[in-house]
Amino acid sequence: MTTAVTERTAPAPLPAAPVDTPRQRARKEAAALAELRRPVRGATMLAVVAAALGAVAGLVPFIGLAQLATQLLAPPVDGGAVLLTVWLIVAGLGLRGLLLGTALAITHFADVRLQAILRRRITAHLGKLPLGWFSENSSGRVRKVAQNDITELHHLVAHHSVEMTAAIVLPVGGLLYVFSLDWRLGLLAIGTLPFYAAAYAWMMRGYQEKMDQMNTGYARISAAIVEFVSGIAVVKAYGRARRSHAAYRSAADDFGSFYSDWVRPMLTIEAIASMALSAPIVAVLSLGGSIWFVAQGWVTPIEAMTEVLIAMVIPTTVLAMSFGAQARRTAASAALRIVELLETPELPVAAQPKLPEGNRVELDGVRFSYDGTTDVLHDISLVLEPGTITALVGPSGSGKSTLATLVPRFHDVTAGAVRIGGVDVRQIAPDELYRRVGFVLQDVQLLRGTVADNIRLGRPDATDDEILAAARAAQIHDRITKLPGGYTAVIGEEALFSGGEAQRVSIARALLADTPVLVLDEATAFADPESEAAIQDALSTLAAGRTVLVIAHRLTTITGVDRIVVLDGGEIVEQGTHEQLSAADGRYARMWAVHEGGAR
Ligand code: ADP
Repeated sequence: MTTAVTERTAPAPLPAAPVDTPRQRARKEAAALAELRRPVRGATMLAVVAAALGAVAGLVPFIGLAQLATQLLAPPVDGGAVLLTVWLIVAGLGLRGLLLGTALAITHFADVRLQAILRRRITAHLGKLPLGWFSENSSGRVRKVAQNDITELHHLVAHHSVEMTAAIVLPVGGLLYVFSLDWRLGLLAIGTLPFYAAAYAWMMRGYQEKMDQMNTGYARISAAIVEFVSGIAVVKAYGRARRSHAAYRSAADDFGSFYSDWVRPMLTIEAIASMALSAPIVAVLSLGGSIWFVAQGWVTPIEAMTEVLIAMVIPTTVLAMSFGAQARRTAASAALRIVELLETPELPVAAQPKLPEGNRVELDGVRFSYDGTTDVLHDISLVLEPGTITALVGPSGSGKSTLATLVPRFHDVTAGAVRIGGVDVRQIAPDELYRRVGFVLQDVQLLRGTVADNIRLGRPDATDDEILAAARAAQIHDRITKLPGGYTAVIGEEALFSGGEAQRVSIARALLADTPVLVLDEATAFADPESEAAIQDALSTLAAGRTVLVIAHRLTTITGVDRIVVLDGGEIVEQGTHEQLSAADGRYARMWAVHEGGAR
């Protein structure tokens, strides 16, 4: 059976996702942060109250000192009253330390609890995602979210609320007190703030656009580095190192001039702004001003001293707040990444799962698209009978892996259905599906542990004899016995396998799991003639009584299979046995001829 070979079309570009404006993104980030922090909201509020009380207690020494001065400067000195004031000052300091310490302890416990909750949520969610999601999303992204992003939240949950509360309540309380003494003193205490605010506002204008430009610059530099490094062998061989450097150099130079144009004027402004908050300037203004106020008879010298003490605290607060705002921004973008991961659609599970009858696999009018616009499989219909091996062949990108992984439901079909034992895979409970469908894919995952443990993953209760039998059938037993330690050799330490060998270990695992349906992606890059023969033997063993679908990259390993299906451009263009297809003189015969030519 031969159908017309369709023209291979290049995959259409992914539809552009609507890009958020910085403001929309910031809003989403804030919402994500609020949603993630919900489980520890009560604890955070409690800690904020404790921190606020602690900050108020921290005001006692300021007021107490002024009080003390009044008592000492107005004879006769009342020893009892002075002692009481001293005790109040000490108590205020002690209470402040106690309350702030308690607040931080509460938030640290909350942080530990929140991290555990989030890790559990992420793990549970990952367990429900389609397996195909994992091949598209490198483990790097999962790791970033599960480790870094959760850790980024630490500062916010454990420190931010408490420290910000303390940083705000102390100066605001102090300022209110100063205003209560005299409104002119209050104004004097915040006299330098308007300069700082104006300078800061000037520095921050166009901040988001500049940050976007900066990120674009970084991306350009990274791209240039990647390009340079990935082509380094060719570049060196052809003596083009200098020219290749040029792309990187121009990206780096552009970035350098952009950055210095942006930052240089800012440094001057920043210096002026910092001066407005620096201790000497604040002290000079407060002292000068309050001495003049005293001379005018508006305030007493003691009130003036109180103002100076409190005015000196305000700048540290402003600085703490700007650091805090930065920490909050970092945590908010981490929170959004976590929420996005948690919102990745799960694989829908049937409410009333059905049990397949038998292990016949049927693809019925299957269409599939990764991006929702371009089909990479068009109307595929195929039946895999139990006890037979079906091999998929075709050029790279023809859809072999996509088709094969639809059987263990790595993705759901866009149209049509994949059925096992007459039941749509979407109607089969996931556990039942994995009991029935095993798979050995190209990127074999061997876990750190002994060889025996790795094979035993297929069936945790298997006996040693069963493990040996599986390894023999997978043609890997001899190789294992040659390892120092044999089956107890640890993968990655005593046991260093080639790609083909690792694949045979995972075939042994699949054999032990004994699933009636098996999807196998044959390893290619590593297949030396010896492994090839071994894989062929392993394949025949596997097939006995099973429904096997194998993605074949080398035609020689599949000459004996029951049926060969030739895919091209996401369509079946031919199918039959090796003999039938060779005689048909079509697509497969041409591939075979090329292969033979290559072999000679
Ligand atoms: P083969 O296994 O025959 O090499 P694939 O099934 O890997 O072919 O790929 C078929 C088509 O689907 C190709 O055009 C490929 O670019 C595209 N494709 C494969 N995997 C993905 C993916 N995760 N996301 C988007 N497109 C993909």
